[in-house]
Amino acid sequence: MKKQIQAIQSYIPEEPLSEVKKRYGIKKLVRLSANENPYGTSKRVKEAILKWNFGEENRYPDGYALKLRTEVANKLKVDAKKLVFGVGLDEIIAMFSRIFLESGDEVLVTNPTFSEYALHAEIEDAKVIKIDCNERNGKYDFDSFLKNITSRTKIIWICNPNNPTGTYEKVSDIRHFVENVPSSVLVLIDEAYIDYATDTDETSALKLVEKFENVAVLRTFSKVYGLANYRIGYAVVSEKIVNYMEAARLPYNLSSIAQVAALAGLRDQQFIDDSIAKNKKERDKWESFLANNEIEFYRSQANFVFFRYPNATSLAEKLLANGYQVRRGLRPDWLRVTIGEAEDNLNIQKVMLLEKNK
Ligand SMILES: *Cc1c(COP(=O)(O)O)cnc(C)c1O
Repeated sequence: MKKQIQAIQSYIPEEPLSEVKKRYGIKKLVRLSANENPYGTSKRVKEAILKWNFGEENRYPDGYALKLRTEVANKLKVDAKKLVFGVGLDEIIAMFSRIFLESGDEVLVTNPTFSEYALHAEIEDAKVIKIDCNERNGKYDFDSFLKNITSRTKIIWICNPNNPTGTYEKVSDIRHFVENVPSSVLVLIDEAYIDYATDTDETSALKLVEKFENVAVLRTFSKVYGLANYRIGYAVVSEKIVNYMEAARLPYNLSSIAQVAALAGLRDQQFIDDSIAKNKKERDKWESFLANNEIEFYRSQANFVFFRYPNATSLAEKLLANGYQVRRGLRPDWLRVTIGEAEDNLNIQKVMLLEKNK
């Protein structure tokens, strides 16, 4: 066994809803702790799966996911050869770490951010350097990133919008940053929530992949597409990197049914547009609520809000008793809540006010 494995704290996945309900003795439970799409999944997905050609269960799936690859490439206007698919974006994160990191290498992340970047770096015995976000607005401290680059730096993770702060970095700012990063360092831009960013017209850093060989953009079908259960993520990488990724990728990582689901989801842009519009409306209401009640928060461009609440743990418990599961443990006294449906958001806010005025 690798010696570093002993020290690693594994990622704690969400428990099945039925288990949580049983444990807390509650009838209703709305999970707003994992940033899943509260509006479900496109109806087209169910239709496609029911129409799926059963009878090839004994055959391996298309390991190159050709149909899905072609349609994703067309939609993003990128070269289909530069896509790498994974069992969720999780697998893509693991793949990059496995391929590019050796013992003693360094990885830079913002703090707080998605914990899997650090987890997989640690599995490869790399050192994780956490650079605090701007305390006031939650944004990246790009200057500090540049100062922390050494000859051992191999990967810089940019999560945009960032989980859990929800903050968004402009493409022009990322571009300026990348221009100052040595070309030997990979800059991996995780755009799991990019569809939810509405402040600017050009939200994605995809164009940077064409310009810089050391940049990749990562996406997932788990969030706005509402397909978390099917496990489909991908990276858009340069020609140089694609061969390394394909060399190490498990040959049959996506099942046929996952490919069918993703394809159907991809074709229903209306569902995506509706989800984004509803999220934005509710996000605006959430932010007004927080501002009006003088609760500190970071401006979100994602499908969740991150706010400071004295005694956050007891609020989280209170919310659970009321049927709402939110995410704690990301920063002392802060909670991350997925933006839910209108009624659920109001119910949560009611509990927050009651607790605050106690
Ligand atoms: C949810 C999430 C992922 C993982 O997505 P999967 O495709 O479900 O594995 C990756 N990055 C960020 C920032 C996320 O929030």
